[in-house]
Amino acid sequence: MVTTAAGSLATADEWTDSDDDLEAGPLTDGFHLVIDALKLNDVETIYNVPGIPITDLGRYMQAEGLRVLSFRHEQHAGYAAAIAGFLTKKPGICMTVSAPGFLNGLTALAHATTNCFPMILISGSSEREVVDLQQGDYEEMDQLAIAKPLCKAAYRVLHAEDIGIGIARAIRAAVSGRPGGVYLDLPAALLGQTMDAAAGANSLVKVIDAAPAQLPAPEAVARALGLLKNAKNPLIILGKGAAYAQADDAIRDLVEKSGIPYLPMSMAKGLLPDTHPLSAGPARSLALKGSDVVVMIGARLNWLLSHGKGKTWGDKAKKFIQIDIEPREMDSNVEIAAPLVGDIGSCVQALLNGMGEDWAQPPTEWTEAIFTKKQTNVERMAPKLQNNNVPMDYHGALGVLRTIINERPDAILVNEGANTLDFARSVIDMHKPRKRLDVGTWGVMGVGMGQAIGAAVETGLPVLAIEGDSAFGFCGMEVETICRYDLPICVVVFNNNGIYKGTDINPTGSADAATTVFVKDARYDKMMEAFGGVGVHATTPDDLKRAVNEAMHSGKPTLINAVIDEEAGTESGRIGNLNPQSIIAKK
Ligand code: ADP
Ligand code: MG
Repeated sequence: MVTTAAGSLATADEWTDSDDDLEAGPLTDGFHLVIDALKLNDVETIYNVPGIPITDLGRYMQAEGLRVLSFRHEQHAGYAAAIAGFLTKKPGICMTVSAPGFLNGLTALAHATTNCFPMILISGSSEREVVDLQQGDYEEMDQLAIAKPLCKAAYRVLHAEDIGIGIARAIRAAVSGRPGGVYLDLPAALLGQTMDAAAGANSLVKVIDAAPAQLPAPEAVARALGLLKNAKNPLIILGKGAAYAQADDAIRDLVEKSGIPYLPMSMAKGLLPDTHPLSAGPARSLALKGSDVVVMIGARLNWLLSHGKGKTWGDKAKKFIQIDIEPREMDSNVEIAAPLVGDIGSCVQALLNGMGEDWAQPPTEWTEAIFTKKQTNVERMAPKLQNNNVPMDYHGALGVLRTIINERPDAILVNEGANTLDFARSVIDMHKPRKRLDVGTWGVMGVGMGQAIGAAVETGLPVLAIEGDSAFGFCGMEVETICRYDLPICVVVFNNNGIYKGTDINPTGSADAATTVFVKDARYDKMMEAFGGVGVHATTPDDLKRAVNEAMHSGKPTLINAVIDEEAGTESGRIGNLNPQSIIAKK
């Protein structure tokens, strides 16, 4: 929409008062060009923290019909934007003030880039003149230079007439190819610049085909199928790129038609239901060790997969087929025998087309070995999940939450912590794509509340956030945001009085608590009550079940303080081997 410049803008007054410019038409300004450019590109929601110099931009955005949600800290606005990108394939937009606000948002931008989620961080900034001469201006910082190494692309717009092209570039950079984070620097003076409204409208750019399909080469498809055909113990690994791609039907067809067992990475759980007969989830270790040909679909052979080699993989070299949109991902750790570069939808469809009608299923020794192992593991787990111990242990509490998610497959599950993350990931089955959101590639603590808010806003679905007490501490203040926007979010804090465990003791005998211990028997539920939400203190699996069901049913902002045995956790959950002490011990 074209607007006349606000009367309060000095530059606008000068223009319109000028005698020799009587023919000048209505003006627009930087504020409105930014808004019009975003709206033209179907942006609907801004995850924001107001302040100098973007307070008015947020106000104008809201006035012009964008949904502007203000957070208490930029990092969480950023995590909300990042997960919005993952869920929608459109860039999530986070907006911050200059310098410290920008830096707070930058953590989330780096996280988005690392996880291949499209996101744009828009930050207000100081003018180039004062930044470049370092004259001690308010929040003077070279934000563009700082952002560059931490994101996929970074742009600064200096002239109102370039706002349209700047925003178009940011959107295309975020979603095309391998998605990622983009930084857009808007100096304060840009927002107040004015220009002819009609010229301004003409300067806007609607991005056409922002993430074009990228078809794999026919030779690459043939090479992959040739390898797969001769596999004795084939395995498919689905990563969060596969979940992001929204090629759900094609991926299910590929798994089912090929009859190949598959392993979902954490955020790919539910792409096919975890209860699917070909899921090798509960037989992960056997599947990785025993496989000979592995099809990677939107998953990287990074640390989460032991870089494709070593003990996890049975100390045997595997033949990898890798589907990825980023050519440089190939051979990043081990040789990729059959790279399939292209978008997942197109690559998977090409494989399906090439398989023909009479594709042979994998040898039954392999699929049955996995099936048997799976059953043993599931049966071993079952009684643990039904225990009624008080204080609760992880399995007792998660057994309850598992049933709740089974009964509500559309709900979105957010999950972070150490033990809380590791146990929940393996205990709770997911049934639909893109319903499990967690700490991602970096294992970030504090993503939970931002993700819960972003997911609730983008999907309108109820969210269950299962949070370690430490993880929750990084983002807990956003419960006010949850209450303010009355979002259907139920937070369950697994409260075991500390990090990993609540039992450490200061060896000096001083009154200071041990480094990993929090206030004992804290009542996180009271935090939610402080802002008008529902708080529940749950000490038994039955309490927990009742409270979560009630919250999921009512959709009211709820926080349940779930008391967990302070002895129950293990150091660093399942990645204790990354601690220096363990590394030294191994040498
Ligand atoms: P996980 O942690 O679940 O294993 P990763 O984040 O490691 O998943 O890997 C995701 C991969 O998916 C990245 O290498 C990324 O380039 C790729 N990817 C993301 N979107 C697409 C897409 N639409 N088509 C093809 N590859 C994609
Ligand atoms: Mg990965």
